[in-house]
Amino acid sequence: MSVAVQAALGLLAVLCLLAATAQARVVAQTPPLQVSVQLKWTHQFQFAGLYAALAQGYYRDAGLEVGLLPGGPQVDPVQTVVLGRAEFGIGNSSLLIDRAAGKPIQVVAPILQHSPFVILARRESGLETVRDLPGHVLGLEEHAAECLAYLHRSGVDIDRVKMVPHPGNVLAVADGRIDAISAYTTTEPYDLIQAQVSYQVFSPREVGIDFYGDTLFVNEAFAAENPEAVRAFRDATIRGWHYALAHTSEVIDLILRDYAPQLNHLKLGFEAEEIKRLMLIDIVDIGYSSPTRWHHIAQVFAEAGMMPADYPLDGFVFENDLQPDQDWLYLTLAAVLAVLLLVSLVAHRFYRFSRALRRELEARRALEAELSALARTDELTRLPNRRSFFERAEAMLREAQDAGRAFSIVAFDIDRFKAINDTWGHAAGDRALEAVADACLAYAPEDAILARIGGEEFAVALPGRGARDAAAVAERMRAAVAQLRGAWAAAPDMSLTASFGVGATTGGSSLDGLISIADAAMYVAKRAGGDRVSVMPEDAALSGA
Ligand code: GH3
Ligand code: MG
Ligand code: MG
Repeated sequence: MSVAVQAALGLLAVLCLLAATAQARVVAQTPPLQVSVQLKWTHQFQFAGLYAALAQGYYRDAGLEVGLLPGGPQVDPVQTVVLGRAEFGIGNSSLLIDRAAGKPIQVVAPILQHSPFVILARRESGLETVRDLPGHVLGLEEHAAECLAYLHRSGVDIDRVKMVPHPGNVLAVADGRIDAISAYTTTEPYDLIQAQVSYQVFSPREVGIDFYGDTLFVNEAFAAENPEAVRAFRDATIRGWHYALAHTSEVIDLILRDYAPQLNHLKLGFEAEEIKRLMLIDIVDIGYSSPTRWHHIAQVFAEAGMMPADYPLDGFVFENDLQPDQDWLYLTLAAVLAVLLLVSLVAHRFYRFSRALRRELEARRALEAELSALARTDELTRLPNRRSFFERAEAMLREAQDAGRAFSIVAFDIDRFKAINDTWGHAAGDRALEAVADACLAYAPEDAILARIGGEEFAVALPGRGARDAAAVAERMRAAVAQLRGAWAAAPDMSLTASFGVGATTGGSSLDGLISIADAAMYVAKRAGGDRVSVMPEDAALSGA
């Protein structure tokens, strides 16, 4: 950056600073604008944001001098504001009815996102629902339109309810002067609890009526002339509410000292808690006004005949378009949630599907392995069968030939087996086969394969063993078979023998060739009387019975 540019930027910064301080001085120097706010009830925590804004100097900083006019059961803030005795007022959702009736007011900011309005009844009054109200006495405060809409929606014949003005104190229900009363959940339940009066609460929410509660509004003509001041008042009030909610105890002390010494800390604490709940401070910005919500409110009032249907809401909320549209935010949030839900649903289904698939694959693999094992195993003796023997012995032979190592085949066949079947029956023959298999297996080296390759014919593949070693293995097997005699059957003295033939190679013979040699040797042993081992080509029985 060149020195000239740096200098120019520095100058610009100084000018900006000067302009800002000059602006601040102008604001501070203009005399404060005096405005009044008509509260909708007597001083209590319900207006904490305004007390805090005053005490913290938020209104003063905004160039406003604010006076608060306390209200009461018979005070109508709309009337005060329309008559110009106050610029601002605190009302509730019934502001909509007033507006539809031609009253020049505009909503500035809803403070309570849910209405605290309920109907309280003494338990002994015999009222079980609001539908029991006809024939009973109900005390209603000004602008309790929401309560009337509630009765209407509940199907209550309002003409048969004995309506009286609100007596100003909820304890009027305690002595039976009246049966039910319009009330705020923020305060009246506390008084009844303190007076040990058992009561019940009927809430408009039971019939789907969910209105704004306390709502800041302004005289429309004043707003048109002083939009800046309305904005400043709105922002300072919201700031005051933030302060009051963050310093509840301090603001309660302030209320007790400056506004309502007759109240007490406990009661105001109870009210503060309920107000926080109704403000939805964790979810909704203080002062947020939703067009959708106002449409819902208009619809409920229209349904009860309190205002025309399809009343246009344009201009009802002061500079509503300047506020961020949280409906849009909610819609986006809902959409994101829906997408997340869908994704997790799909993921879950996919997971379950793939888990099922994996299990099925595993089961199939296990089954295939089992089938393959079965296809290679002799059912009776559990030895490898003929097919398995040829596959594995073939591979072994190739390996031995590649490594230049010896390889031998021993073939053996039970002697005069037909006679065993004929004499002792086929089942005894089967047991003899099992006994022979077990006896020979005990003498088969670890790396050898002993298989049943025919009815009563067996074969042993012996890798790494020449004719002499193979003959030694065959000899041990022969002796083991001969020793079995009839131990396996009910004929201990019966003879059971087998003839063994050995075929050995160190060269290029095929498996078939080797087996033929071993077979030929075996027949030599048979012809010599059986129960012996014969090795080709010597044609010599190595042992005999
Ligand atoms: P040798 O070998 O001494 O010449 O006479 P052999 O009686 O053993 O002769 P051969 O090989 O002709 O007969 C074998 C007999 O084995 C025929 C068949 O009934 C019987 N056999 C084959 N498989 C089985 C089997 O699984 N169970 C039983 N019990 N007998 C079988
Ligand atoms: Mg035989
Ligand atoms: Mg045979």
